[in-house]
Amino acid sequence: MTSTLEGQSAPAAPPVRPVREVRVAIIGSGFAGLGMAIALRRRGETDFVVLERAHDVGGTWRDNTYPGAACDVQSNLYSFSFAPNPDWGRSYSEQPEIQAYLQDVTDRFGVRDHCLFGAAVSTARWDDAARRWLVRTSAGEFRAQVLVSAAGALADPAHPNIPGLDTFAGTVMHSARWNASHDLSGERVAVIGTGASAVQLVPAIQPIVDTVTVYQRTPAWVVPRTDRPVPPLVRRLYRFVPGMQKAIRGALYLLREFLVIGMAKRRRFLTPVGRLARAHLHRQVRDPKLRRALTPDYTIGCKRILISNDWFPAISAPNAELVTAGIAEVRPGSIVTTDGVERPTDTIVLATGFHVTDLPIAEKICGRDGRTLADVWSAGMVSNRSATVAGFPNLFLLVGPNVGVGHTSMVYMIESQVAYVDDALRTMDAEGLEVLETTPEAQAAYRDLIAKKSEGTVWLAGGCASWYLDKHGHNTTLWPDFTFRFRKLTRKLDRENYVGTPAGSADEEVAA
Ligand code: NAP
Repeated sequence: MTSTLEGQSAPAAPPVRPVREVRVAIIGSGFAGLGMAIALRRRGETDFVVLERAHDVGGTWRDNTYPGAACDVQSNLYSFSFAPNPDWGRSYSEQPEIQAYLQDVTDRFGVRDHCLFGAAVSTARWDDAARRWLVRTSAGEFRAQVLVSAAGALADPAHPNIPGLDTFAGTVMHSARWNASHDLSGERVAVIGTGASAVQLVPAIQPIVDTVTVYQRTPAWVVPRTDRPVPPLVRRLYRFVPGMQKAIRGALYLLREFLVIGMAKRRRFLTPVGRLARAHLHRQVRDPKLRRALTPDYTIGCKRILISNDWFPAISAPNAELVTAGIAEVRPGSIVTTDGVERPTDTIVLATGFHVTDLPIAEKICGRDGRTLADVWSAGMVSNRSATVAGFPNLFLLVGPNVGVGHTSMVYMIESQVAYVDDALRTMDAEGLEVLETTPEAQAAYRDLIAKKSEGTVWLAGGCASWYLDKHGHNTTLWPDFTFRFRKLTRKLDRENYVGTPAGSADEEVAA
């Protein structure tokens, strides 16, 4: 305590935490952040920190704990290629198993000591004079030569703007911020949304609630889920014949790439998938009125194709109701739809998705001229190779613009991106560069490439509105081609598209 003039004690000032210097600061510890950290460790780099706002690794797989949360891609494919897990319990794993896998690789590859938990990034500013990123977090400040943003696209829940929602007297929770201590047994529950999260959580809660009312804005195409437990014998085979699990992974990968032909090249190849979804609906929903309400009017694949065997039975159950009228307002104890019907409600579950085309992290990252990524992206997200942005030196984005996929494993795309960043760091080392920055020309060329590849795809021409497109109707989220083409494009740094500044130089810059 220090003394004031009046002789009273004043509270001691909080200790000033020194700014920590690191070579690489990674934001986020989901699949992408961990993948990057592991790649650094594997090549002997130890001068890095993983800044994680939560208190555990896992990203979206840590946060999405709603009942029934599981992956729509088989675990043999939805896992790191360098860390196969012979012990997956099911072909499509549920959230706790995926989260346990991520915790395991964190320890196995020695990156836990690099993780700083409870470190929410408030701003990251490029200091051009110092040639460093100054990163402010709730756990102190960091000066980093390289900043890798792996904050994720499914990180920040989107809350709908519904009149009166804030006046609701019961419980409101988003699917991505599930409150497990709130018991839904016997309650009248409203679920808003019918995307990938809703079709998993509704079947999980329907048996225990009094009623579940699902407010649907747009129906989804749903195909059967071929999920089954992995028999112990198969697990033993995976363990002792790793090549077998690798071969299955490869087969799953190729099978899923066939979907790209229909989605991005020749729409008629989607016809059999559409038939499968229609047959699934007809088999599972007998009531013609309900069936009609659940039938989409857009081409399959335009929005994410959902996989479920229990969504249609759950919404057909006697205690379930599908409401297609829009929500007019929420009152303290009910929801009123535009047709004037008022439904008493105890709990509202918002299964309304995430901020994907307006990534909140973009508001926190300021580039060379002081503008944020969000400012620079106000007309739509742009990048070179989905990884770098002109005016943001030494910044690499993982799971940023145009890397999303609707048909296969995001982990494949993440590994492609990590290899690209890894090669960029190697190039900096090899050429003695302190700063690497992509050119506006490269960025414009990549934007044109994406626009050209997106022309005529089901995402643009399939007759739906989806979070794949931004508010200008541009595809700024999905990679609109085969994923092996993305891998080829990002295998090595396209050095010719970067300007490098050698360490120690005044302002001299070296083009490729
Ligand atoms: P989502 O796909 O964005 O779905 C949000 C749902 O909420 C849609 O049905 C949307 O209707 C509806 N909605 C949004 N705002 C609304 C409003 N104001 N009023 C009424 N309805 C509204 O979100 P999600 O289901 O959380 O899934 C997001 C992504 O996470 C998925 O696409 C997938 O990539 C990933 N995910 C994967 C899995 C898995 O692997 N199994 C599970 C969950 C999530 P509209 O369609 O009309 O916009």
